[in-house]
Amino acid sequence: MPKRIGQQYICGQRALVPNSLVGTALTMANAKSSSKYTAEDVQGFLVCTIRHRGPVHYGVLLNLRGVTAGTLWALWRDRVEPVSVLELPDCSAVHSDDDAACSEFEGHPGGHSWELSELPSPRRPATRLPRWP
Ligand SMILES: [Zn+2]
Ligand SMILES: [Zn+2]
Repeated sequence: MPKRIGQQYICGQRALVPNSLVGTALTMANAKSSSKYTAEDVQGFLVCTIRHRGPVHYGVLLNLRGVTAGTLWALWRDRVEPVSVLELPDCSAVHSDDDAACSEFEGHPGGHSWELSELPSPRRPATRLPRWP
């Protein structure tokens, strides 16, 4: 396991991917690639894995095939359906100890992916919360 530097958490905001965004992602991905992408290549669910201060969340929508290919990211704001797709190059940082590549985009805010943790207590439906005595 890569060493954690301090205790930083990803934003963790989630959003469903609307069908229109799936179409946009496939159009962008297939326009520049001979290997055809299908709807199954598109994430149905976005998680903001960035640590950021601004109002815009970023979630991986589609990982383009190929080592140098970038990733399609969806951008959205709180309580607003994601409508923007950006193709961004992958962050070129590599962890010095174990060669793990950062899974964020180039120039992302916050720490690299190995510096960030999932939120300590993911939101769960109320019915599954433990009962306190
Ligand atoms: Zn976010
Ligand atoms: Zn990075």
